Amino acid sequence: MSLPAPSQKKFGTSQPTEPAKPSNFLRQIIESDLTTGTNATRRWGGSPGDNTHHAQGPLDPARIRTRFPPEPNGYLHIGHAKSICVNFGLARDYAGVCHLRFDDTNPEKEDQEFVDAIMDTVRWLGFDWVANGTSHLYHASDYFDFMYRAAEHLIETGHAYVDEQSAEEMRLNRGDFGKPGVNSRFRDRAAADNLARFREMRDARHADGSMVLRAKVDMASPNINLRDPTIYRIRRAEHHNTGDKWCIYPMYAYAHPIEDALEQITHSICTLEFEDQRPWYDWLLERLIEGRLLQAPPPRQYEFARLNLTYVITSKRKLATLVYDHKVSGWDDPRMPTLVGLRRRGYTPESLRLLAERTGTSKAGGWTDYSTLEGCLRETLDVSAPRAMAVLDPVKLLITNWDDVMGGGNGQPGFLDACSAPLHPHLPELGRRQFKIGREVWIERTDFEETPAKGFFRLFPGNRVRLKYGHVVECTGCSRNADGSVAQVHALLVPDTKSGTPGSDAVKVKGVITWVAVADGLPAEVRLYDRLFTEPQPDAGGKDFLASLNPDSLKVVQALVEPSLATASADEKFQFERHGYFVADRVDHAPGRPVFNLAVGLKDSWGK
Ligand code: ATP
Ligand code: MG
Repeated sequence: MSLPAPSQKKFGTSQPTEPAKPSNFLRQIIESDLTTGTNATRRWGGSPGDNTHHAQGPLDPARIRTRFPPEPNGYLHIGHAKSICVNFGLARDYAGVCHLRFDDTNPEKEDQEFVDAIMDTVRWLGFDWVANGTSHLYHASDYFDFMYRAAEHLIETGHAYVDEQSAEEMRLNRGDFGKPGVNSRFRDRAAADNLARFREMRDARHADGSMVLRAKVDMASPNINLRDPTIYRIRRAEHHNTGDKWCIYPMYAYAHPIEDALEQITHSICTLEFEDQRPWYDWLLERLIEGRLLQAPPPRQYEFARLNLTYVITSKRKLATLVYDHKVSGWDDPRMPTLVGLRRRGYTPESLRLLAERTGTSKAGGWTDYSTLEGCLRETLDVSAPRAMAVLDPVKLLITNWDDVMGGGNGQPGFLDACSAPLHPHLPELGRRQFKIGREVWIERTDFEETPAKGFFRLFPGNRVRLKYGHVVECTGCSRNADGSVAQVHALLVPDTKSGTPGSDAVKVKGVITWVAVADGLPAEVRLYDRLFTEPQPDAGGKDFLASLNPDSLKVVQALVEPSLATASADEKFQFERHGYFVADRVDHAPGRPVFNLAVGLKDSWGK
């Protein structure tokens, strides 16, 4: 990390405001639905259920229902934060509710660690699935019985059949974009035979993979998703919720619309990859509404462009590789784009909500620059984070005339002068922080140059700078170690220049530097993080993302920090003046053993 030149940066006076909510196509659809009463006749049985269950309930008190449906097979990442903000945000803004649904129809994959982390993360982002005292936390696997019943219904009404073609035959007969599919020779089997066969599948009478249940839609459809999609497969696998009750499991594309309908979701919002699935989504729900298994009107699916951030990968599989290959310290490594990682890095819920808002919700894809994310954090921390001084690359500054000027008068060598500074320049109510200045102070190594480069206004022989909140000193030179490195910088105190005392600004200086007194500075471990990848699109076009891992994404330094940080608690954020925003690490920080993570620098300097 390079240090910005010292400056009396003027901090913005902007207060944290609720981000403006520009309209978008989803808001327009919802507003139009509310005006025309599209969903006004829906009843809500108090919990997810079929047509009969909901029909006996009152009119749904929720004006809209949305859902966030993660598969509990990994940690949530920044892309999921977008989806959470969109779904929970719309429900909140339109007097609706948003369900948290664990999409656990895939056996073997669920892990309690992920389930707990997902719940924790949604709440941390500021959202809740409990609305008016009712919890809307659901599991897709609770709907297996209904999904099975619906499958039998499709068979009975001639809309599904058991296909015993081999996987290879099925693939060949599906055709492709230019070639229509070919009907399976099992397609016209009688409903009764299909039903018997399907029950045999359920009763474990057939081997895994030997047959599947397919919907009978249209093998010639230009939309390949409508070419008789598979809806059930045989899979002898233990399920975390249903144990070994089932050896057949529904396919995602079959399960998902049904889950939405049972939960009375009005607006089922997903990312653009699912656009081609929408005709199937609608087809399936129409069949089940016709059969009076589900209540009308059906949920409607709407797609928006996913969030893509430069220098970030969001595939769970690739993130898992980083963890299991020890490229990072874990899912919550502060360099990870997981929400547990971002949180540990110092990201606030406000900053992630701001990113979701700022990146908009539209059909137009594209890449959001990483600096947009950093800008959101900087904005939310600037207005709230207390300030402190820290020296990250310390060298000692010796004020050689200190005892004569400061201590001599009252006969105290080693005299320490009390200084103070506001905790926040625009929040006087936060109070002030206290620290000392003495004969020896720590300064940044880069704040001294024996032979200054052009434009360098900090310490060099003969130059005067202000020790921020303290006195003006005039540099006289340095002493060096055997290896030539600077051992100590030497300076003389300029009398009567202490900040805040009358006449202190009579001496003009071009440079102001931050510092920490040797007498009261606290040693602290500071972890300087940078982007994990050096390429803006590390995995684009099937590229090996490991090839562009940034070798300098973590640098650990032993720093000195101001004594006010002795009481910092884990997760607390600060602005280290001139350096950036830092957070006390949630895992390793402890009283007496402070550890701070760099969350984001003061300005966007990356790549410059
Ligand atoms: P991954 O590909 O990382 O495994 P996923 O989409 O398979 O992600 P799910 O747990 O199934 O993960 O996703 C839950 C929800 O989050 C889905 O509705 C999905 O569309 C949404 N989501 C995932 N990534 C993004 C993203 N980058 N932008 C917006 N929404 C996203
Ligand atoms: Mg998924």
